[in-house]
Amino acid sequence: MAHDPLCYLDYNATAPVLPEVLSAVTADIACFGNPSSVHAAGRRARAVVEDAREAIAAMVNASVQHVVFTSGGTEANALAMRGLAGGCAAVLASAIEHPSVLAHVGENRIAVDHNGIIDLADLERQLSTGPSPALIAVMLANNETGIVQPVAQAAELARKYGARIHCDAVQAAGKIPIDMRALGVDSLSLSAHKFGGLKGAGALVIRAGVDLAADMLGGGQERRRRAGTENVPGIVGFGAAARAVTKLLANMPRIEGLRADMERFVSHSAPQARIFGKDVERLGNTMCVVLPGVSSETQVMRLDLAGVAVSAGSACSSGKIAPSHVLLAMGVDPAEAKSAIRVSLGWDTKPEDVMQFLKAWLPLASSAAA
Ligand code: PLP
Repeated sequence: MAHDPLCYLDYNATAPVLPEVLSAVTADIACFGNPSSVHAAGRRARAVVEDAREAIAAMVNASVQHVVFTSGGTEANALAMRGLAGGCAAVLASAIEHPSVLAHVGENRIAVDHNGIIDLADLERQLSTGPSPALIAVMLANNETGIVQPVAQAAELARKYGARIHCDAVQAAGKIPIDMRALGVDSLSLSAHKFGGLKGAGALVIRAGVDLAADMLGGGQERRRRAGTENVPGIVGFGAAARAVTKLLANMPRIEGLRADMERFVSHSAPQARIFGKDVERLGNTMCVVLPGVSSETQVMRLDLAGVAVSAGSACSSGKIAPSHVLLAMGVDPAEAKSAIRVSLGWDTKPEDVMQFLKAWLPLASSAAA
């Protein structure tokens, strides 16, 4: 499939639409009924929405009635952070959470170590000495570094201290298996466009028995947990992407192999470059690399001129000069953090794409070293 720009290595910002999503959405686009209407057109729309809900529940090993559709990951995080916070005396989040989670948390952060992994001892210290009960947020995989977090252990600590726990799994979807029951979290957020669905569709999946207060009011949709007419085409695409996850996961070893080749070249030809999370569990598609002396903006612009799309840190922070809060939390020097880029591969990445990136990026590294 052709993309513009030619060499797209920014899958963590958004992934190209999967062919199966395109055909499912195209087939159902004329399904215009309102899923809340009782007549035939409404029932047809309801059927496709419920079909997608089943696929999403199966993808994360949750019950179908616990999938709440939202407009994406940002809204799912907001719904969790506001809807679970009732009665909580404290809200804590890991220092590397996405801004859509951090926006709902005051100053309380769970520290991460230099590898970008949350410090479970710090979490336990805060849970045992701080106000109780608490709501905590720990993401499954970080969007900038790809580093995977010990969510199941954090959930165990949450249970021990009577806390609730929300998990942002937006970047993990389609890249590593997600089992909500095994993770033991109270809620989990997903976003369709990060793994081949359309933008504007996401979900908050909740555990059985969790009391979630609605944020969007004024309608009975989604079992009164999220008012508003459902985004039927987006949800159809979300369901098709969820069904394609088995295929996406089967493709990950190939992608991880491409990334390993890319990182070997980088380390060999630009020894001054530093790749984050090399020795810890990381999404197989993500490389976050610092090239000392060359700003992220310069790298992104030079790569763009060569037809290669990557990001400076997270997509949400692109355009901002501020160094990434994720790298700063890992103890990276602020000047160094301003020279980081994120290269993220995906289902349609080919060896030629990696070569095109290296051809454009390695001269930048050599000129900086000269
Ligand atoms: N959470 C994480 C980890 C993300 O990477 C993103 C998007 O970059 C979001 C949440 C927000 O998702 P959406 O773009 O669907 O609002």
